[in-house]
Amino acid sequence: MGFSHLSNLECGRCGAEHDSERPQNLCTRCGSPLLARYDLTAVRASVRPEEFARRSPDLWRYHELLPVRSPQTVTTLGEGMTPLSPMTRYGERIGLPRLLMKDEGLIPTGSFKARGAAVGVSRAAELGVERLAIPTNGNAGAAWALYGARAGLTTTIVMPVDAPEITRRECVASGADLHLVDGLISDAGRIVGEVVAASEGRVFDASTLKEPYRIEGKKTMMLEIAEQLGWRTPDVILYPTGGGVGLIGIHKALGELRELGWISGPPPRLVAVQAEGCAPIVRAFEQGERESRYWEGARTVAFGINVPKPLGDFLILDALAETSGTAVTVTDDELLAELREVAAAEGAFVCPEGAAAFAAARKLRRSGWIDPTEQVVVLNTGAGIKYPGTVPVDAPVLAADGRLV
Ligand SMILES: *Cc1c(COP(=O)(O)O)cnc(C)c1O
Ligand SMILES: [Zn+2]
Repeated sequence: MGFSHLSNLECGRCGAEHDSERPQNLCTRCGSPLLARYDLTAVRASVRPEEFARRSPDLWRYHELLPVRSPQTVTTLGEGMTPLSPMTRYGERIGLPRLLMKDEGLIPTGSFKARGAAVGVSRAAELGVERLAIPTNGNAGAAWALYGARAGLTTTIVMPVDAPEITRRECVASGADLHLVDGLISDAGRIVGEVVAASEGRVFDASTLKEPYRIEGKKTMMLEIAEQLGWRTPDVILYPTGGGVGLIGIHKALGELRELGWISGPPPRLVAVQAEGCAPIVRAFEQGERESRYWEGARTVAFGINVPKPLGDFLILDALAETSGTAVTVTDDELLAELREVAAAEGAFVCPEGAAAFAAARKLRRSGWIDPTEQVVVLNTGAGIKYPGTVPVDAPVLAADGRLV
């Protein structure tokens, strides 16, 4: 009984309860993100972990722990159940022979934003939303535009003019109303706020963490990792952190799995990886602060993690503290070099954000923070082929008869 065991929404900061059966944005008391809560006793009574393996190979196999009430309102392109691949040759080179990659490049729209979009769009449509607006660094806009099209919603997307070009084309192809802004995602967010305010309730603000359900989509990465490891968890998980939704989702899933009794033992140590040119979480972590401060002049080739002030910063920092995790930066040069190392050693063309997480794994092994015997999971959050500019080509050009020209 019950496709979903969603019970209510709870503020991630002050704990205030909110009704989950109508569209919600931030906590009406303190302005913080809301988290979905489930009747975990009912979940435990209705499904056992072994049963998931017999269900569809996508994230909807965990529907009891997702917010969508009815199978009829699920909008899906088959997202989820991405491979957890051994990276043995590369891992041995960097001193981590048990390294694994969760490859989110193999997902509709080419980035793990599809998880958040599938669940967020499905739930918004189920609650009667017809129009939504979203600021984005590219991949989220593409995913929400495409899933929005599948659900029959109208979407307004605002993204920086220098976001990866392919994501812009995905929005146009989906028929979304696309706006480019000569600025950062924070500027795009302000513009979306104005669009929403002017709409008098007709346009739903689907900004990162201003709607509660994309976290639920992204938490399924952790449910899958646990299932793929036989309901065990790895020692360390490295995650390229922008808005931090994936990290918050992973931490939330760990709490739910533990409360369900499906996993035990110490949690994996979570690592927030940021680029040196935009590292508000690393700075806050190092200074022992509970929140981040706006990062001036944010800039990195890893566009998905170019977020100068994440709204859920305190939830990210909680996740690091509660798992004895850490936060590290890598430079653009380091991550671009790592991208080619990974492709050359393993045949995996990862995205620059994923490459940053690999570079961080190397650094943390070198510093001794990760032990060579540990099982380590790197999240490659998107497909390298979405960023054709990251690898320069200087191959010789031959005439048709084979002569060098
Ligand atoms: C958005 C994005 C990230 C960062 O995800 P958050 O959940 O915002 O931290 C990382 N990698 C890629 C490819 C992205 O598109
Ligand atoms: Zn609150």
